[in-house]
Amino acid sequence: ADDVALDPWGSSTVSDYRKLFEEFGIEQFDEVLDEVPDPHYLMRRGVIFGHRDYRAVAEAMRNDEPWAALSGFMPTGDPHIGHKMVFDEIIWHQQQGGDAYALIADLEAHSARGLTWDEIDEHTRDYILSLLALGFDPEAGDLYRQSTNREVQNLAFELGIEANFSEFQAIYGFDGETDVSHMESVVTQMADILYPQLDEPKPTVIPVGPDQDPHMRFARDLSTRMRFFKVTDAFASFELTDTERELVAIAYDHREEYAEDPDQPRCGEAGEWLADYETSATEARNGAVEKLDNAGKEPLRPRTRFLDRNATDEAFDALVEEIDGEKRRYEAHVDAFDLDHAAAEELARQVEVDHGGYGFIPPSSIYHRFMTGLTGGKMSSSIPASHISLLDDPEEGYDKVKAATTGGRETAEEQREKGGKADECPVYELYAYLLSGDDDEFAKEVYEECVGGDRLCGGCKEQAAELMEQFLEDHQAKREEWEAKLDELDFEFDS
Ligand code: SF4
Repeated sequence: ADDVALDPWGSSTVSDYRKLFEEFGIEQFDEVLDEVPDPHYLMRRGVIFGHRDYRAVAEAMRNDEPWAALSGFMPTGDPHIGHKMVFDEIIWHQQQGGDAYALIADLEAHSARGLTWDEIDEHTRDYILSLLALGFDPEAGDLYRQSTNREVQNLAFELGIEANFSEFQAIYGFDGETDVSHMESVVTQMADILYPQLDEPKPTVIPVGPDQDPHMRFARDLSTRMRFFKVTDAFASFELTDTERELVAIAYDHREEYAEDPDQPRCGEAGEWLADYETSATEARNGAVEKLDNAGKEPLRPRTRFLDRNATDEAFDALVEEIDGEKRRYEAHVDAFDLDHAAAEELARQVEVDHGGYGFIPPSSIYHRFMTGLTGGKMSSSIPASHISLLDDPEEGYDKVKAATTGGRETAEEQREKGGKADECPVYELYAYLLSGDDDEFAKEVYEECVGGDRLCGGCKEQAAELMEQFLEDHQAKREEWEAKLDELDFEFDS
């Protein structure tokens, strides 16, 4: 079961996050953490573990430039504590100064999951209430449902022109039996992801679970396909040698691979060409050293052993210099290629915007770990005991935590001796993902007491259960406050 199946509508869990980095080109979040001015606790604790292009968002955040965050929710059941993580992510981005968008994917729920409109309306209300209760500011941000957003639907239609059925087959495994509305819901979702950039292109982050990554890859690809002014055209305005032009053209053809791995200049054939160039420079250097070695019939170092020391040294130095020159030219070439590529991208986008095009910036994404179910295994909406719904009675929430599986040992004695297995404990996850809130010290204390054998599961669960009960009470009180004000919202609750 260590497959990494990324199916946005499936029920797969991702058991090996490392493979996501290797196979799908998602980058480790750790590498960008320092660039985020005031990271969220889910980022600090590694719950948000991966990203694509989040650097662009962090940079806009630091420089006070426009940026946005968007999340979609499919209203197929009650919102639960797993969804709370995503609510928190979008709310935090709003508080950091981004334009925040939260949307209800009702078309998707209807077409891909077959829910009736009545069911969808009921769940929509519940999702919106919890989002507001957790702190989303509806006046500063944007709340909408897919079915009533004409602009999103128009954009979806345009994007549909660039997408074709073979891609749907390749990306999502659609086949001859897949209904047309399901396909439409995919382009609608692509339109949602690009919607924040409709008036003005800007870095946009989509917080998602790793199973949603196929959508991100497709949206990033479509975002650049919408350009009628190509990067290669942009390059025409730079002064480039023929070789560089050739490289750029190849790089443009391989732009998907390039977009997957922007830090790596060796993309596709262009990469092979550059790598060959480097290899021949290195081989030439090694060959020269070997030749000089043989000439002296002595190991090269110390060089004083050469018979004709001066002559050999001179010859050697000249050769080394020549080859180093080659290597420097190669390195300069790589740098210039990178710089030019970024500049060309920017220019192509700008021309696009000036001519009334979209000029989309490929959207960024961040990826969070899935919460483990309280009964072990996957947290699932369809297994009530595995999750805590945000609508559960506080006492029921208390009871579910008390009944949860733990990473504890067989006996208290063994636990004191060896410590608990916090890393495998769903109760510890509750502390880290939710109950400790922003308090890192508290989360750390629970962890250390557990693994050090100073914390036993009975008391630990009692504390977690009480905190959960309190959280649900507070949350539901806030939901009630919002319930009274829902009519004031500019949102169509009834389809
Ligand atoms: Fe889990 Fe707490 Fe038991 Fe540790 S002490 S295994 S964190 S329930």
